[in-house]
Amino acid sequence: MSIWVVAGEVSFIVLILLFLLFSIYSLLEKEKRAFWRSLVLFLSIAAINIFFLFISIPLKNCLFGTVFVLSVVILLILICSPSPKQAMKFIGKPRKIDERDVIFARFDYKEGTRIFREYYERRPEYKKIDDDIRKIPDILSAPHMKKNPLHYSLADAEFNFLENLLTQVGGKISPEKVELSPSENSQMIKNIIKYLGSEFCGICALKQEYIYSYVGRGPEPYSKKIEVNHKYAIVFAIEMDFEMVAMAPKAPVIVETGKKYVEAAKISIIAADFIRHLGYSARAHIAGSNYQAILPPLGWKAGLGELGRMSILITRKFGPRARLGLITTDLPLILDKPVKLGIQDFCQKCQKCARNCPAQAIPYGEKVEENGVFKWVLNREECYRFWRKAGTDCAVCIFVCPYSKPDNLFHNFIRKITSKSSFAQSLSVWGDDFF
Ligand code: SF4
Ligand code: SF4
Repeated sequence: MSIWVVAGEVSFIVLILLFLLFSIYSLLEKEKRAFWRSLVLFLSIAAINIFFLFISIPLKNCLFGTVFVLSVVILLILICSPSPKQAMKFIGKPRKIDERDVIFARFDYKEGTRIFREYYERRPEYKKIDDDIRKIPDILSAPHMKKNPLHYSLADAEFNFLENLLTQVGGKISPEKVELSPSENSQMIKNIIKYLGSEFCGICALKQEYIYSYVGRGPEPYSKKIEVNHKYAIVFAIEMDFEMVAMAPKAPVIVETGKKYVEAAKISIIAADFIRHLGYSARAHIAGSNYQAILPPLGWKAGLGELGRMSILITRKFGPRARLGLITTDLPLILDKPVKLGIQDFCQKCQKCARNCPAQAIPYGEKVEENGVFKWVLNREECYRFWRKAGTDCAVCIFVCPYSKPDNLFHNFIRKITSKSSFAQSLSVWGDDFF
């Protein structure tokens, strides 16, 4: 057997195993189209390989040699293509965001109340669009409940439970301080958060620009100045179930969102209380109406991921298919660093979330500067309008994002090579559409 046949056969075996593995993973993930297409490719390559083995010697050498050379060329392009270059870009110091302007706060204001009048007198530019959106039944309201009472009732119960936790976010600090080094504290708090249910946690400095300026919702008085003087933010991510998110934008997705917010709240409340037992100030920030800080940029600073085209944090492990939790504290800690995962370059090539967004709220074009950050800016009103139409928090963009694929060996390998090679990113964008 010639050297060309041996080299070509090795290339065939690698390709056959690759598509076999891909079809097995697709089957396990119930990705029907990907399963059938990878199975057809696996069988076709195996059939071509067998056919090549039975042809005459000179042609056999030539064909096996061609397969080998092509495989080597593709491998070299993969290895040598430039690494993704873009990092998230910040210019200047962003101003604080006013929680009163956040879309969920605006839709909490009840018509005819003092707060409603005060808000729209001060911010008349939002009045027309908000009134228009108000005509659509609210998320989890009676018209939606009638369509799917079981799922919506369960989601409503989860969000009610979260509201009942609001009194638990702070508490008394023990007068006895437990003195450990910042690195011991960091390791300890990460271990505890892992033990409580999140494997994915980072620490960053709590800069004032990431704290909301004035209260817009929740139990604190409306318009009260928000003061959080903690030095550190501990941010963690909780994975959302792949199959539940696959139902987006139907009711199961909001059940899953509520469930993961409850898990994040549990972890934040227990971890913050634990820190107070050690003699340091700490506050849990829980979903619903309780965040005093903006989570996506803190998640980026803490090394959990990067902001993507859909404007939310794309985490290293679960992509955007995650919910974030937050604790702010004065417990001395070691800071983590932001990570560069190649997501800025990937999002430039991929517009899958924009193409699939039922509200067409995700931009197709370039990033723009918003409050000191270069990013893709979501049309929040159009996104929220669709949420009310669907009766859920939609999440179609989260499901279709290639980074949302399950956290397993196969997809983690793809995540790894796409963070290193621009060609791998282009191949992955094409592959995600094809399969
Ligand atoms: S949640 Fe839905 S409507 Fe909003 S941006 Fe994503 S896909 Fe579009
Ligand atoms: S779907 Fe594509 S463009 Fe959108 S956030 Fe994910 S990777 Fe970026």
